Amino acid sequence: MATLAIHGGAGTIPRGSITEEGYRAAREGLRAALAAGWSVLKEGGLAIDAVEAAVVALEDHPSFNAGHGAVLNERQEHELDAGIMDGRTLAAGAIASARHIRNPIQAARLIMEDGTCLLLSGAGADDFARGQGLAMVEQDYFTTPLRKQHWQRAEDERTGKLNRSRTEAEKHGTVGAVALDDAGNLAAATSTGGYTFKRAGRVGDAPIIGAGTYARNGVVAVSCTGLGEYFIRRCTAHDIASRMLYLDTPLADATQNAVNELKGDGAGAGIIAIDRHGAISLVHNTEGMYRGKVSDDGVIYVGIYADDFGAE
Ligand code: ASP
Repeated sequence: MATLAIHGGAGTIPRGSITEEGYRAAREGLRAALAAGWSVLKEGGLAIDAVEAAVVALEDHPSFNAGHGAVLNERQEHELDAGIMDGRTLAAGAIASARHIRNPIQAARLIMEDGTCLLLSGAGADDFARGQGLAMVEQDYFTTPLRKQHWQRAEDERTGKLNRSRTEAEKHGTVGAVALDDAGNLAAATSTGGYTFKRAGRVGDAPIIGAGTYARNGVVAVSCTGLGEYFIRRCTAHDIASRMLYLDTPLADATQNAVNELKGDGAGAGIIAIDRHGAISLVHNTEGMYRGKVSDDGVIYVGIYADDFGAE
């Protein structure tokens, strides 16, 4: 049995203000990412390869806050975070505050394979990726008109010119994938630009193994989205795994408990997870979460809001 689930962030555009075109583009982006990951799993491939393929597709799509389409920090620059974990061995790799790696999740994967360290940051991450022959880009590759608009709204809010509160979509987002392969292996991957107007040098939860990303064979694979500081404090992804492993908490209860706790903290949060049996949980405490899954029979489901989740 193989299954795959993805998210494109819990910072969705409020239903009333998303354009038909934006809605269609996001759904299509989710579908394409699931197809990319599923093409690995359906051939009997590894969960770790499937989550990487799905996240690369999401990084390449401008609707989501990772890779092309990542948010701008306070200096109007992009600093990218990504983390990946293989549940077979607990091997993991991550990058933080990278500036020129076209697909950050590929660099995280290569750090994992290299194995001499787990988390590389800043220029060191960029240099490593360049040395490995990954595609490198200038900062403007990541910038889209929408993200410039979001930066401007944050600036207007700061200077008192914005007469409404910013939406979750204007603030943040992230992409992620979790998978179970035919051999029973679990894997998780998460990639993000962080949040709009974040401090230069700020690192979120995506590359912090156990916070925004975690996978352990026989237990669960988890990828999170929402304001990373809260996930780091609660070690959210690892907390879900611990509840399942030590307390035998069912997947749905462990993930729901985590988003409830984060809601209590005042944090908008979304979590995707797959357990060792292939059960999938896609939970959020926000109006929506860009999300999708592929069932064992290969049917692709995507949704953005509470009531639009369905087969494509
Ligand atoms: N988790 C991301 C971060 O804090 C942001 C998000 O998922 O919305 O960097």
